[in-house]
Amino acid sequence: MSVTIPRRQLFIDGEWREPLHQKRIPIINPATEDTIGDIPAGTAQDVELAVAAARRALTRNRGRDWPRASASLRAKYLRAIADKVMERKSELATLEALDCGKPLEEAAGDVGAVAGCFKYYADLAEALDEKRTVLSMHTFKSHVVKEPIGVVGLITPWNYPLLMAAWKVAPALAAGCAAVLKPSELASVTCLEFAELCKEAGLPPGVLNIVTGFGTEAGAPLASHSHVDKVAFTGSTETGRKVMTAAAEAVKPVSMELVGKSPILVFEDVDIDKAVEWTLYGCFFTNGQICSATSHLLVHDTIAKEFVEKLVSRANSIKISDPLEEGCRLGPIVSENQYKRVIKYISTAKEEGATILCGGGRPQHLKKGFYIAPTIITDIDTSMQIWREEIFGPVLCLKTFITEDEAIKLANDTHYGLAGAVLSMDLERCKRITEEIQAGITWVNCSQPCFLQAPWGGRKNSGFGRDLGEWGLDNFLNVKQVTEYVSEDQWGWYHPPKL
Ligand code: NAD
Repeated sequence: MSVTIPRRQLFIDGEWREPLHQKRIPIINPATEDTIGDIPAGTAQDVELAVAAARRALTRNRGRDWPRASASLRAKYLRAIADKVMERKSELATLEALDCGKPLEEAAGDVGAVAGCFKYYADLAEALDEKRTVLSMHTFKSHVVKEPIGVVGLITPWNYPLLMAAWKVAPALAAGCAAVLKPSELASVTCLEFAELCKEAGLPPGVLNIVTGFGTEAGAPLASHSHVDKVAFTGSTETGRKVMTAAAEAVKPVSMELVGKSPILVFEDVDIDKAVEWTLYGCFFTNGQICSATSHLLVHDTIAKEFVEKLVSRANSIKISDPLEEGCRLGPIVSENQYKRVIKYISTAKEEGATILCGGGRPQHLKKGFYIAPTIITDIDTSMQIWREEIFGPVLCLKTFITEDEAIKLANDTHYGLAGAVLSMDLERCKRITEEIQAGITWVNCSQPCFLQAPWGGRKNSGFGRDLGEWGLDNFLNVKQVTEYVSEDQWGWYHPPKL
């Protein structure tokens, strides 16, 4: 499908607006290195307008238009948005592939998941109306209501541009919040197109505002804004810390989906060919640019030789090409900076004495674009940078183990705690390992499946709070108790009259 990138402005109060400073950021296709368009570079003043628009959407008609509108009305908008997304699925997928280098087939899967996410939260929004916890305490009758938190700032990364936005926008709107979304400056195209779909779906003005731009110029003022009631962030731990610091001043709640460095443990009793496939998928999916990549490979010593031979041979057979080409499994890294960063990790590993078993740089058949062949590294010491830091590219680090205890110790020897996988036919052992792994997400005999209903998030330096499921909705709700004095009974030492 041939697609041109539409020239868009910022989306504020239901309208397209030029950024006040008239600045734009070029969009580079990472597969060709060509400039294929540009996005608006919003700044603090644009954020100011967007937050004010969101605040108005919450207070208009004393909130009856949005936060207090019946949940079924909000669900209607969410379903209409999902339908609009599906109508333009192939166009959105192509735009995503052009913008961030994601293989087209994966991008199409993401767009389907975006629509699914809006439908799922439409159902949860309706269920919210029916949920009411009633507490009775003799003299008093009390019930608990869940209310929208208010205006929320949503800051998202480039690796799943539209999907990460959907994971936050859908529950925020389902809860009755009004949102300002700040997508990554490296990949904002589909989020801007999404704004148009919301407009077509009739979403009331100001309920969703999108300010694209650089992190320091548009993200930072959103995180610190005194009229933003909560910030939900996905990105690096380094930026997450800055967002938390900015939010701390106003005692603003935050949720943080941050860096991962996740293990996959392969035991001696596996079917080696199948284990090789899960290992490749677990690390090289989304060009290796996935927070939950199981990039710490721990293989039992007795099968290591055969396993590694097969793994390297299969890694070398992965099709690397322009993301729009049929059958592409691995596209380019998102940007030149990110490409250089990954290459630097690989060269530092070599200097520190590690061995590159395959990949290690640009595949020979691709002369342009930010491509890195699937790379597997061994002879690694756990103090090496490549073992300790998130690489965020198609790089798998391999170590062997002999005992289960040693494997668990290696798996947990990280500041991060997003995910972890175990491959073994012994399900008792798998159970023990999932209990021991210090992470928010664990997989048995697979890697990377992700469900709308299941909580997504980490611990340690991988963050806190959960996206998806009911937990994703709770991110955007306040809990309030309403207690009524219902009898004339004495209460404590005081005996107030019933009104
Ligand atoms: P990043 O931290 O560089 O940027 C994330 C977002 O924050 C962007 O929109 C950016 O513009 C904005 N930002 C930058 N500086 C800011 C500041 N000072 N104040 C406010 N906002 C600011 O991350 P990235 O490179 O876009 O994304 C990749 C990272 O995201 C990886 O580390 C990956 O592990 C992580 N990630 C985590 C999850 C998860 O679920 N845990 C999911 C996807 C990606």
